Amino acid sequence: MSKPLQAIRGMNDILPAQSAQWRWVEGHISALMSEYGFGQIRTPVVEVTELFKRSIGDATDIVEKEMYSFADRNGDSITLRPEGTASCLRAVLENALVDNNQLAKLWYIGPMFRYERPQKGRYRQFHQFGAEVFNGNGPDVDAELIALTARLWQRLGVSDAVTLELNSLGSSEARAAYRAALVDYLQKHQSDLDEDSQRRLTSNPLRILDSKDAATQQILENAPKLLDCLDDDSHRAFETLKKRLDLLGIGYRINPKLVRGLDYYNQTVFEWVTDQLGAQGTVCGGGRYDGLAQLLGGKATPAAGFAMGLERLLLLLETLKVVPPDQLSCPLPLYICPLNEQATQVAFKLSEDLRSALPGLHLQINLSGGNVKNQLKKADKSEAQYALLLGEDELARQVVQCKPLRGQGEQQEVIWRDLAGWVSQRLFKVTSNED
Ligand code: ATP
Ligand code: MG
Repeated sequence: MSKPLQAIRGMNDILPAQSAQWRWVEGHISALMSEYGFGQIRTPVVEVTELFKRSIGDATDIVEKEMYSFADRNGDSITLRPEGTASCLRAVLENALVDNNQLAKLWYIGPMFRYERPQKGRYRQFHQFGAEVFNGNGPDVDAELIALTARLWQRLGVSDAVTLELNSLGSSEARAAYRAALVDYLQKHQSDLDEDSQRRLTSNPLRILDSKDAATQQILENAPKLLDCLDDDSHRAFETLKKRLDLLGIGYRINPKLVRGLDYYNQTVFEWVTDQLGAQGTVCGGGRYDGLAQLLGGKATPAAGFAMGLERLLLLLETLKVVPPDQLSCPLPLYICPLNEQATQVAFKLSEDLRSALPGLHLQINLSGGNVKNQLKKADKSEAQYALLLGEDELARQVVQCKPLRGQGEQQEVIWRDLAGWVSQRLFKVTSNED
């Protein structure tokens, strides 16, 4: 026999045992976003390659080496989305969601694709939750985006494990001036820089700031600082943002080397980082990107947003041993054990009648046969409260034996037509005991 086919490297199945955790997180996210007045947007998973090239930038890791791009059947180059912002803005412009200068507050959730080296917290298909606000100026919009992420941490019980890092990249002019000053300084030390940084000196010099190389970091100690080159507007905006965060009691650390991987940011950039996940410690990153709409051919539209890596968030929950509250919404799950073919037929009818009478009831029929002992074992394993036994004798007398599996008294015989009443009585008892 040949080996069964396997999933693509770096692309994972989310199995039933994990999906309850996912749903719990997703539930919190969608509730939170409604509370803050955001609407959900769902964009296609593939877009024309040009969209990402233009928005993310040619000199970024993503466009240089991480995109899943291929030719469509008619030869057009299309790409599996590596992030959500470009698609979101494309949809906003295409559907005129920002006409008349109204604020558009959007959120999305879904799979993203990057050809990276798979490791803990880094995958080739991963999931992001993100939010974008269009037509809203900094720093108030920035403060609200940060406040809502802080609230999510609180609701999920991870606040103590994450830290907010902040920086301002200034206006695009200030950034260009800083870029020139940085290049000027680094060129004097060119031969001592690591290989990647030497290459970036011409393509994307700001990225050198977050080089992991010790020698490069040493050289950067005396490099000009971005925050010292801020234009007045950006400086004021940054001060106001800090004031808002102080007011809300949201702590932060200024990280002058925080530049983020993408080309399109200006002014505020931020990241939520954790020391609990090893090298993949950034759980969420965002900032302003006021120039992006024009870059995509739209009219000038101030914008800000963030994206959160859900796998990393779930890893963090796992590390901190945060488990969602029991998701079993039905306190009285049942398991029907039909002991012959005719009993199976009756079991189907009885169970569908019960589902009609009691929506929300968790009810399974054993569909894989077995003797009484064997079926009771399956019932027990299913975590049911009662096993409903149907054998020859029960069929003849139109009854079912209700056998308690968790020590709630004696087995009881119930007539078929009374079954819904019998179940609902017990359901009610369990529910009111719990209150
Ligand atoms: P990193 O520095 O870790 O590569 P990035 O700057 O490329 O991150 P962004 O493009 O800002 O990441 O994406 C936002 C978030 O999405 C990240 O902070 C991270 O939580 C998550 N993320 C990014 N790439 C991956 C990946 N390959 N696998 C899992 N999560 C990812
Ligand atoms: Mg990356």
